[in-house]
Amino acid sequence: MALTSAQLNELERMMKKRRDALEAELHADAAKSREDVFSQMAGEVADSADEAEADLISDVENAELSRDLEELRVLEAALARVRDGSYGTCVDCGGEIDLERLRAEPAAIRCIDCQRIHEKTFPEPPRPKL
Ligand SMILES: [Zn+2]
Repeated sequence: MALTSAQLNELERMMKKRRDALEAELHADAAKSREDVFSQMAGEVADSADEAEADLISDVENAELSRDLEELRVLEAALARVRDGSYGTCVDCGGEIDLERLRAEPAAIRCIDCQRIHEKTFPEPPRPKL
């Protein structure tokens, strides 16, 4: 069953809300990074232990940042599919993606069967545990 326009609107709203939240978060992060740079330029002298800690924190922040950016990219791509009418169609088999799956993961590009095959074929690298 194809998505009704009400269902499509609902999913689009969910994705836009999430995108706006991500964008706000990214802007806040960018503002914070600038503050960090300014406080460093203000001539604080950190000892080497503090510097190592600061490096570690910025690595974690960068990992979060790239995850957010990736999610934003995926959401933008899904919203573009809503506009061109291909949203809700599996990119692998061309079948319809279940509404339940889209509600759980609005930016999904594959039906559940193709996603399972995809994950078996291209397993994600293990994420480092913190
Ligand atoms: Zn499929």
